[in-house]
Amino acid sequence: MTPPEAGAPFHGVDAQALLSALPDPVALFRPDGQVTLNRAAQARVHQHSPSGDWMALFHAGSVPPIRDAVQAALSGETRQVTVQVVDTVAPGLLTVAPTEDGALLHLHVARDPLEVALELMDGMGLGMTVQAPDTRILLTNDAAARILGMTQEQLLGRDSMHPEWRAVHPDGTDFPGETHPSVQALRTLQVQRDVPMGVYHPGEATWRWLQVTAIPRRAPGASQAKQVTTVFADVTERQQMQAEVRRSERRFRSLVEATTQIVWNTDPAGSLQPPQAPWEAFTGQTPDEYRGAGWLDAVHPDDRAGAISDWQRALETGTLYTTEYRLRRADGAYVPMLTRGVPILDERGQLLEWLGTNTDLSAIREAEQALKVLNAELEARVQTRTEDLSRVTRFSTLLLTAAGESIFGLDARGVTTFANPAAARMLGYSIESMIGQEQHALVHHHHEDGTPYALSDCPIHQTLRDGQTRRVERDVMWHAQGNPVPVAYVVTATHDTAGAVNGAVIMVQDITERVRAQAQLQDLITDLERSNQDLEQFAYVASHDLQEPLRTIGSYTELLARRYQGQLDPRADQYLHFMQDAVTRMRSLIQDLLGFARLSRTDLIFEPVSLDELMQAARQNVQGTLTSGGSQLSWDTPDEVWGQSSLLTQLLTNLVSNGLKFHRPGETAQVHVTSRREGDTVHISVRDNGIGIAPEYHARIFEIFQRLHRRDTYAGNGMGLAICRKIAEHHGGRIWIESAPDQGSTFHLTLPAVPTP
Ligand code: ADP
Repeated sequence: MTPPEAGAPFHGVDAQALLSALPDPVALFRPDGQVTLNRAAQARVHQHSPSGDWMALFHAGSVPPIRDAVQAALSGETRQVTVQVVDTVAPGLLTVAPTEDGALLHLHVARDPLEVALELMDGMGLGMTVQAPDTRILLTNDAAARILGMTQEQLLGRDSMHPEWRAVHPDGTDFPGETHPSVQALRTLQVQRDVPMGVYHPGEATWRWLQVTAIPRRAPGASQAKQVTTVFADVTERQQMQAEVRRSERRFRSLVEATTQIVWNTDPAGSLQPPQAPWEAFTGQTPDEYRGAGWLDAVHPDDRAGAISDWQRALETGTLYTTEYRLRRADGAYVPMLTRGVPILDERGQLLEWLGTNTDLSAIREAEQALKVLNAELEARVQTRTEDLSRVTRFSTLLLTAAGESIFGLDARGVTTFANPAAARMLGYSIESMIGQEQHALVHHHHEDGTPYALSDCPIHQTLRDGQTRRVERDVMWHAQGNPVPVAYVVTATHDTAGAVNGAVIMVQDITERVRAQAQLQDLITDLERSNQDLEQFAYVASHDLQEPLRTIGSYTELLARRYQGQLDPRADQYLHFMQDAVTRMRSLIQDLLGFARLSRTDLIFEPVSLDELMQAARQNVQGTLTSGGSQLSWDTPDEVWGQSSLLTQLLTNLVSNGLKFHRPGETAQVHVTSRREGDTVHISVRDNGIGIAPEYHARIFEIFQRLHRRDTYAGNGMGLAICRKIAEHHGGRIWIESAPDQGSTFHLTLPAVPTP
């Protein structure tokens, strides 16, 4: 190699640096056989020979000429050799030049346009293969491998007839290898363009849809193809979208077909041109029959004029065509049709055609008919319902009219909206004169005592305000004549559909009679009380005044007895005895009567009284009976009562002595007294084991002079229990008996407990 000339551009440049920067592979061979590679050479050689053997870059046929060139360089000669490089289709140019200590080899490989194309296609996501005449795959890119679901290595060397290809046509039929576009291109030397092909993707176990173009390559002048280049795109997604579009279009179409019987189109002039398959199918007309305006023959003769004029108007104005006519079906029947046609314009507004539809109206007519029937039925039902309603109304009117009670209806402001005849009668107004009037102002303006009745106090208006039902037992309403009518009433709110109070119904009872009866009763009670007082007065006066003559009779009877006893005949002695007896009894009767009459409410002075103390006093009073007859008296009376102790002592003495007196013959009398506090009262029971009293006498024994036995069996005046009852009642208490013959008796007594301050 000649040294660079002084002043030349590479003067002083470090050869080492230059070599390593060079993108082409460069090798330095020394005479001793050692080889040094630049960076580009190392990268390329190592793909083919792990040991870094430079010669591995070349096909075997190129190795001898390279060796020759090296030898020549070592002896000072520069040579250029054309070589076959293993990883490139295009031949390389190797320049071998002598250096100071060996030979320098520089390899230049022109890039094959095919390789460039492969890369380009890859970048666009298109698969590309290059196949030899025997269909073996020589080259392929990454995209092809990706689309077909294989590695490049698996693809290289495979031919189109390989049994593992699985390909189909769009209709699903098999797509054999010998018919693939690449094979066709090789055979026919014609470009096969955009052939659709389904290829099975083994990795995803799905079918991929490809669009395949195969381009044959022929060496200049040769009659056979040298190679075939196949480019394919994965259109699976596009295919799916198109299928989706087609599906929805079909759906839309079937919808259209379902709703319209016939779709037709005419040229811009309005002339019907074949083919019009739906029209033919429906009418049975042949293309020659309906062509132009022939279709009118299928329209009912009576409807033709209307159809023509509507059609012509639409054609002239270029606006919507709509008409109705009967159209003859292929079987001869006329079907009512709604016909619509629209002008179709292009983007410049130029009329392209008329597109029209005929809709079978018979379904609509049927629906209309059904609707009519339904309507009639509905009307009939409404009619029945109205009759029911008026029956109910009549009935309630009847009820209102016939009701003995007065009934008013008020609106939310208290204005009378209805009144029944009873109401009118009760208050002396006509129904008409009450309706429209404010009820309160008309009939409810004053209280019974003549003071004004404020609206805010009126229970009816309170109900109008709060919706609560109210019952008023005593009030007055004013008669037209000006007198008050005593009334009781119930006022009930009425509600609108939203639930708000919109008025009230008042049912009023005239209680004049009731009030009168009450007043009469009160009068009767007053009368009775007065006559009772009179009686008591009389009894007192009588018994008091009777005492004096009785005392006289008694004294003289005694005198007579003392003086003539035993001196007259025996019968006179007996008469004297009877007289004395009668006087004694009379005295005791008068005393009892006097005692009874003296009992007067006004004299009572109440104080807390211990029942135990009362019982002790009562025992004192019956002491004689107890000691003589061996009778027993016991008590358990821990309570205190509110009353007058002298009267209560008398009461208890009477009960206890009766209990002791009315004992069963041959049995010892036993009387037990208990007390129990019951709320505001004390309940006292006096129980004996005596002869008992049959229930039918239970009430009678408390009346004066009522006795159940002969005096010679049981002594007494029949005043004791009458006095007991009077004392009990004067204390605000009650007395009653619980007894049956031979079962003993229990007298029950209630007295007020000591009031708590
Ligand atoms: P009397 O003065 O006759 O006892 P009462 O008014 O005390 O009058 O009694 C009226 C009648 O009630 C008695 O005659 C008697 O027939 C009946 N009676 C009163 N207490 C008893 C009793 N504990 N057991 C049976 N009968 C009784």
